[in-house]
Amino acid sequence: MKYDVVIIGAGPGGIFSAYELTKERTDLKIAVVEMGNPLEKRKCPIDGKRVKACIGCKSCAIMSGFGGAGAFSDGKYNITNQFGGTLYEYVGREEATALMQYVDEINLAFGGEGTHLYSTANTKIKKTCLENGLHLLDAQVRHLGTDINYVVLQNLYERLRERVDFFFNTAVRSIQAIDGGYELQTENESLTCTRCIVSVGRSGSKWMEQVCTALHIPTRSNRVDIGVRVELPAEVFSHLTDELYESKIVYRTEKFEDLVRTFCMNPHGVVVNENTNGIVTVNGHSYEDKRLHTENTNFALLVSKHFSEPFHDSNGYGESIARLSNMLGGGVIVQRFGDLMRGRRSTPSRIAENYVHPTLAATPGDLSLVMPKRILDGIIEMICALDKIAPGTANDDTLLYGVEVKFYNMEVALAKNLETTCPGLYVIGDGSGVTHSLSHASASGVYVARDILAKI
Ligand SMILES: Cc1cc2nc3c(=O)[nH]c(=O)nc-3n(C[C@H](O)[C@H](O)[C@H](O)COP(=O)(O)OP(=O)(O)OC[C@H]3O[C@@H](n4cnc5c(N)ncnc54)[C@H](O)[C@@H]3O)c2cc1C
Repeated sequence: MKYDVVIIGAGPGGIFSAYELTKERTDLKIAVVEMGNPLEKRKCPIDGKRVKACIGCKSCAIMSGFGGAGAFSDGKYNITNQFGGTLYEYVGREEATALMQYVDEINLAFGGEGTHLYSTANTKIKKTCLENGLHLLDAQVRHLGTDINYVVLQNLYERLRERVDFFFNTAVRSIQAIDGGYELQTENESLTCTRCIVSVGRSGSKWMEQVCTALHIPTRSNRVDIGVRVELPAEVFSHLTDELYESKIVYRTEKFEDLVRTFCMNPHGVVVNENTNGIVTVNGHSYEDKRLHTENTNFALLVSKHFSEPFHDSNGYGESIARLSNMLGGGVIVQRFGDLMRGRRSTPSRIAENYVHPTLAATPGDLSLVMPKRILDGIIEMICALDKIAPGTANDDTLLYGVEVKFYNMEVALAKNLETTCPGLYVIGDGSGVTHSLSHASASGVYVARDILAKI
């Protein structure tokens, strides 16, 4: 089958490029090839009762399928150039912001209307942070919530299915340059296209590396973020989360001058498992619907590790640490902050007696046996710093789940229009290494679609 454009991956990057292409030109022949399921068939078998741990499904329902890794996420669309990716380095700051705002408009039009847009503009919290050695990053954040995010995705799918050929449960195995375009090989068939947009996210990171090697596309990789997910009573952070919902706060440690930052804050949310390439790490989300709220707030504390020559496998380093927690705990480990500070493991009975009740059934253990000292020291320092602006953060009962790892895809060498060194082959979203968030990934999809439309 010959297509004008084939999009690989139906995450936010792929969805928004398909949306923009089909909005402008209904005559184009477009396909989206996705290795996971359609939205309604995405169901992780872990139910905490019959299936307690990851059973290694052929495609992970959390990470793959229509909606990509973001489908069951908290649906926080951050409109900012301060974090979430470096799209602005390619398109310019103004254009990047305009693209993210455009994505926001589409989300509202497809079911997100009425959801809250938070902003750090004019907040007093910024000053309080500065007084305590903490730095609040500027952003607007649209919080769709896991439930509304799902509705938006359903509505976008209904719109796209009329105009796009979807191939689900279909992993693309290889991309070959042919005369006038590309040939994509899947398990059962081959598709050809004039232009190809690769948007395979984090779950496609290993495969992306193979593609780049085969097509001689230069890449580089040097970063991984390692840390823990913190869970505490929602009251402790309520003055921040009520006003800002998500506050991205950065702290420079006194000991090593490492940067530690808060990431993915979920007021009244739940802590969840995440499976990346068979390794179970931790994440979190929360619902817009108040009936699904918990008593706790969770967020990650992450330390970025940048490596220099001769080491290239930053993700391998992160994986090894996560594997250690999987080896000791059979999955994610949970520890009371008080136990960590006293140099002892948390036990099932200590967790059962804890005032903060865990929202994830993780294995009580000792994170100091898993995390490198320098990283753990940074996290402890940051918890103590946060305690000054949110007293109670450093309480003994605060729960720490490990390991949270943010794997960064290697950075693919791209031109300003996100095209690779192979003409007509674009790489967008988290799979390109350029973005690490819903809004940036979606914006990169719109941007590339417009570039293609201008050429066709
Ligand atoms: C639990 C969780 C919560 C999150 N919460 C937030 C949040 O609140 N805010 C935020 O900004 N970000 C959040 N993120 C990150 C966000 O989901 C990603 O940044 C975003 O989804 C990236 O979009 P993408 O389209 O680049 O890739 P993805 O969403 O990862 O989509 C890539 C798709 O490509 C498919 N694929 C991979 N390889 C192949 C192949 N060979 N053939 C065919 N298909 C393939 C995958 O199955 C997948 O569906 C969260 C992530 C997780 C896991």
